[in-house]
Amino acid sequence: MYSQSGEWDIISMPRFIDKIKRITSLRSFRARIFIVVFIVGLIPCIVLRESILYSYEARAISVRESEVQNQLKIIADHLITYNYLQDQSSEAVNAELEQLSNLYDGRVIIINGNFKIIKDTYGISVGKNIISEEVIRCFKGENATKYDKDNGFIEMTIPIIENISDEINGTETSIVRGVMLTSVATDTISITLDILGRTAWIIEVAMLVAVFVLAMLFSGMLAKPFNKVTDAINEVKSGYSDEALSVPDYKETEHIVEAFNKVLGRMRTIDQSRQEFVSNVSHELKTPITSIKLLAESLLMQDDVPQELYKEFMQDIVGEINREDTVIGDLLELVKLDKTNAELEVADYSINEIIERILKRLVPIARQTDIELVFESAREVAAQVDEVKLTLAFTNFVENAIKYNKEHGSVHVTLDCDHQNFTVKVSDTGIGIPEEAFDRIYERFYRVDKSHSREIGGTGLGLAIARNIVLMHRGTVDIESELDVGTTFTITIPLIYTGYKKE
Ligand code: ADP
Repeated sequence: MYSQSGEWDIISMPRFIDKIKRITSLRSFRARIFIVVFIVGLIPCIVLRESILYSYEARAISVRESEVQNQLKIIADHLITYNYLQDQSSEAVNAELEQLSNLYDGRVIIINGNFKIIKDTYGISVGKNIISEEVIRCFKGENATKYDKDNGFIEMTIPIIENISDEINGTETSIVRGVMLTSVATDTISITLDILGRTAWIIEVAMLVAVFVLAMLFSGMLAKPFNKVTDAINEVKSGYSDEALSVPDYKETEHIVEAFNKVLGRMRTIDQSRQEFVSNVSHELKTPITSIKLLAESLLMQDDVPQELYKEFMQDIVGEINREDTVIGDLLELVKLDKTNAELEVADYSINEIIERILKRLVPIARQTDIELVFESAREVAAQVDEVKLTLAFTNFVENAIKYNKEHGSVHVTLDCDHQNFTVKVSDTGIGIPEEAFDRIYERFYRVDKSHSREIGGTGLGLAIARNIVLMHRGTVDIESELDVGTTFTITIPLIYTGYKKE
């Protein structure tokens, strides 16, 4: 590219070459439109040229044929009138024949009834016999015309007819007395054709240039909106713009841009939730450390700390360390589950046994607030599950049902199945969840009541982990809840595992 300073702009050269390559590539939309417009523009030019030349030639030949034929008929009459077939001395007829052959740069041969040449304007075949198919057919009264394009002449046979009238019967009989065989040159027609052809070529080349320029402009114009889309996407990619794109020129570009805007929106949401997650993680990990630091500093600042106070502070420090440990453990669990293609160790397990074991382990916690744990199972259920992960998920649901319950409340776990899925319902008589929080409770670190959840040792990660595990089993989680009445989580999982299985 030539820059304004007058030097070759080396940096933009590869981009220029790239652009040329893009335009000339057959896979380019512009190149295809160019080819279509170019062909559509060019074909009529070629067809027009060919058809004009062809029809001129056909017309010129037929005019020449009928001209010569008329002249030959007149001469044929004179041949009879002057009895030329018997006596070729007629000056008038000879002059007529010479004039005809000069006029059309041709040759006239006259054949009598014995197939003998009695006159040849070239003077070389007189006295010879000629028996050709055309001549024989002509003696039967048929005219024949043949155009030899390659050698540039027209050959014609005309019968020399004598009409004899029978006055007694009032009839007239036509007898073929001889044949005139003529060949006339078509040089003048060929020369005109050549001139016409050359003019047509010049016009065609001019049209070719015009069609080329038009095709370039037209294809560029049609492809422009697609280039606009690419430019707009590049702007976003380079970080110059963050706005939703709009290229409404075509329905197609509108659809592409709409789809891109949706992807962009999704990426922004993902980015936002990632940022939120990072700030939440930092906050959750920092809080116990800050408490530990405060507790340790206040111990250090005091001299002669009483044994009991020392012990109490140390217990608080251990509590905070445990909390940090739980958050880190939960985070690690989530990271493991988040890995793409996280694998499940699936095998046949009794779901009844899994739930019974979980409830047994949670009895001591439930007892602290006098919560009754009830398990109801309609039947024995065996399913293909990852026992460790599913135990973790169900434990989270039941633990929440205990944690967010009221004193002396109850938790009912029911198990049932049909021919496809098994269903576990975890119902509590607790504080309930407001409807507007239904969609958010599975988010990492989301808690309906932050201080209450922290107080009872929640990390805000339990439901995120539990739902991820259910989804990995190709299952679903539904929620029903009423504030101050209770909550029911319904977990449905296929009996036969259909997802990715670790071998
Ligand atoms: P946490 O560790 O805080 O319990 P979870 O992810 O397990 O975190 O739960 C997210 C939030 O959903 C909880 O903080 C709580 O507000 C609410 N929640 C979960 N289960 C129940 C339940 N059974 N009853 C009432 N609220 C619940």
